[in-house]
Amino acid sequence: VHEMLMLPRWKRVWISRSFVHLFHGYTGLRPKGTVSFCLPPFSSSFRRLDVLTLTPWLAPIVWEGTFNSELLDSAYKPLNLTIGVTAFAIGKYTMFVGRFVESAEKLFMKGYRVNYYIFTNDPQVIPRVQLQPGRSLSIVPIKKYSHWQEISMRRMEAINRHIAEVSHREVNYLFCLDIDMVFHNPWGVETLGEMVAAIHPGYYNVPRSQFPYERRSSSAAFIPDSQGDFYYAGAVFGGLLKQVYEFTRACHMTILADKANGIMAAWQEESHLNKRFFSHKPSKLLSPEYVWDDTKPKPPEVRLIRFSTVNKDYKEIRD
Ligand code: UDP
Ligand code: MN
Repeated sequence: VHEMLMLPRWKRVWISRSFVHLFHGYTGLRPKGTVSFCLPPFSSSFRRLDVLTLTPWLAPIVWEGTFNSELLDSAYKPLNLTIGVTAFAIGKYTMFVGRFVESAEKLFMKGYRVNYYIFTNDPQVIPRVQLQPGRSLSIVPIKKYSHWQEISMRRMEAINRHIAEVSHREVNYLFCLDIDMVFHNPWGVETLGEMVAAIHPGYYNVPRSQFPYERRSSSAAFIPDSQGDFYYAGAVFGGLLKQVYEFTRACHMTILADKANGIMAAWQEESHLNKRFFSHKPSKLLSPEYVWDDTKPKPPEVRLIRFSTVNKDYKEIRD
């Protein structure tokens, strides 16, 4: 380092670039502890210029090509974290559990401790999936509300209660996911953050005025036309347990406020989630790689689809 600083500026850059190649060139060699921190402070190999990778409030937006999994694992593995996943399978949605868990076992937080919490009204029909060591699945029995909107919205309340009663003792981070989804590519610790939101695949490249926020000022989820940052998906959010607790509590409260006024927000809990993330900015954003929609063709900026919807016949599965 000392010799490097003696060099003219342009040569320093050249040398630090070759360092990058040295360290990135290894094959099968896992960086240990401090070794990873020998990397130069910036590296052109982990930069994307075709997509937004930082919000105006300086939260990273996670895209393939913006992070080094090996380096992240070397930092996170020693922490021995447990990551929780909540997913709801009420009524006919129990049919999605098998594919969801099987694909997660191959691709979600591989090598980490994971607890799945499957909330269902029908525990008997939940398939037993063979899990990797250090991973567990528990069934959380809950009642079935009669309308799909109510089922979907009540997730905020149920997750909040479950954190207070159970999962606060069991996990460090929690992701709250839709069940009608499948993992197709790795989802790792690059997604961990205090409070994490995912950009909705339908709205990552449209102007803010077209975001389907709740636009009636009588709703607690109201966001005026000229405001808002991103349109986030209701199917994926997460973060540190304490933060997810506060988040789900806040969303449940505004949902109840609307209910008391006889209002249902345009996109149910997704509208309330968007309002909460508008007033309390997420600390990390996931690109639509993490919540894709299989009916959409894959544009070039989406290099890989990690988690995507299963096509479903709404008439067939919603009561
Ligand atoms: N859900 C459920 N049973 C229902 C309706 C919804 O279990 O009858 C849960 C399920 O986890 C589902 C989530 O609520 O993934 C959100 O509903 P859905 O996926 O139908 O909404 P979409 O993603 O189509 O907007
Ligand atoms: Mn869904």
